[in-house]
Amino acid sequence: MADCNDTLRELEAILDRSVDDELSVGIHEHLEGCSDCMQALDFHAELRAVVREKCLNDEIPADLVARLEQCFQEDFDGDGQIG
Ligand SMILES: [Zn+2]
Repeated sequence: MADCNDTLRELEAILDRSVDDELSVGIHEHLEGCSDCMQALDFHAELRAVVREKCLNDEIPADLVARLEQCFQEDFDGDGQIG
């Protein structure tokens, strides 16, 4: 069975699902009985979700998407001729 140190050290790997089965089972058993580690895992999962969302938004800014949509609409709503 994993202890707090094992669990906290492997948090990122757990989220990546890149731990071997044996260790993963041990850590999940520990998580069920340890609210501190469970909270830490939740926090890391949440953090990842926020970072991923932020990265996606940075790749394609929302206002750029809106402007692109507007451009296409202007083309299609016009007299059918582009340019
Ligand atoms: Zn723990």
